[in-house]
Amino acid sequence: MRSAPTILHLDMDAFYASVEQASKPSLRGKAVIVGGLGPRGVVATASYEARVLGVHSAMPMSQARRLAPNAAYLVPRFALYRSISDQVMALLRALSPLVEPLSLDEAFVDLEAGGTAWDERSARLAGTKLRADIRAVTGLTGSVGLAASKMLAKIASEEAKPDGLVVIEPGTERAMLEPMPVRTLPGVGPATGDHLRRAGIHTVGEIAEAGEDELVRLLGKAHGHALYAMALARDDRPVVAERETKSVSVEDTYDVDIHDRVRVGLEVQRLADRCVRRLRGAGLSGRTIVLKVRRYDFSTLTRSETLRGPTDDPAVVREAAARLLDSVDTTGGVRLLGVGVSGLADYTQEDLFAQAAGGAGEETPEGEEPETAPEPRPETPAERRWPAGHDVRHAEHGHGWVQGSGLGRVTVRFETPGSAPGRVKTFRVDDPALEPADPLPLVDDPPDLLETTGTRGTPDAPSRPRPLEA
Ligand SMILES: [Mg+2]
Repeated sequence: MRSAPTILHLDMDAFYASVEQASKPSLRGKAVIVGGLGPRGVVATASYEARVLGVHSAMPMSQARRLAPNAAYLVPRFALYRSISDQVMALLRALSPLVEPLSLDEAFVDLEAGGTAWDERSARLAGTKLRADIRAVTGLTGSVGLAASKMLAKIASEEAKPDGLVVIEPGTERAMLEPMPVRTLPGVGPATGDHLRRAGIHTVGEIAEAGEDELVRLLGKAHGHALYAMALARDDRPVVAERETKSVSVEDTYDVDIHDRVRVGLEVQRLADRCVRRLRGAGLSGRTIVLKVRRYDFSTLTRSETLRGPTDDPAVVREAAARLLDSVDTTGGVRLLGVGVSGLADYTQEDLFAQAAGGAGEETPEGEEPETAPEPRPETPAERRWPAGHDVRHAEHGHGWVQGSGLGRVTVRFETPGSAPGRVKTFRVDDPALEPADPLPLVDDPPDLLETTGTRGTPDAPSRPRPLEA
């Protein structure tokens, strides 16, 4: 393990809910819950004001509504979250080539590899400046953990929440971990936690005391071994940059979660065919078939299988995707499916001729393929057209967002990220003056910080010490 706290973990604070509060002045300081609003919906993110009431991510929406009946309940706006995530990730990539995103709002950065930090002081400065830059560019807060390993950097950012920075200095790790509950360690979920508790192990220190043999006896070789190492703060995993994987993929998001396993299978076959058409269209074939499944609770799984040689045969891709689907539990429902092919190769001459002979005429130009019949939707048309939280524009009243709809009416609050809290007006759902609108930027004129990365650092920042001459 390195001797300076130069691995940074960034985690945006209550990301989706914070984006909604930044876009909607009337929701600042209020309980906001973002997630699926249907009968089987689950909380994706709760604002800190809602967490105080006991609401947390992955909780069934019905339970959240009992705990926080007066909260604002909003449908996620992933395109907006993704665009803000792109801004944040760009700031991280300016610090180091080694950025490992874990989700839209969370990533590891190896500051040392980027020459941005080499000791505690420079790491702390980099983390402080990053938090200020994120705030300037996005208007949002993120918490930063700095440590000598990924595990500890993540624990540190958790300790830093919300809107903070925590550095774990090398040498202090064991003492800090000792009193913490076992669930602090990555990979210790409720089941493992229970198992350890029955063996009288409650804290990380008690894991270390129990010894490796006992851990292996309790949890099996792989898990026991890994957990013992983590309890001793041993973690040598490198930060792995997201490689620009060359791949061709297609995906579909469903307005209503698909529960029927047969239907899920059919969708995967359809996506496999579409993916192969795109692959062939680009004159490529590939070895690795990837299946992506986002489940009802927004957890996303990818499964992949590598073939012996590259293929662009739809039957081969369909079969591989079906095998991969067999390994995924979809019982709670599926909201997104994707099929991709990576490990790409150009056609060999032989393949090319085979394609010309066999596949001619069945290709459809990109984006023009016929869509299958739309899903049956249980919501009323008003809720479908005017999802809660989404932006709208009214010819007379301007920009606003849908506060609610039903019974032929839609209620709109007219406000923008930079305005004071706005007024509410109600319209008929078919009011011709009302139309869906794109989200407005959260920050009016964000500074272009990436332009200045050549002169990164403030004048009083220390410069990197020169290596000693031998
Ligand atoms: Mg977060």
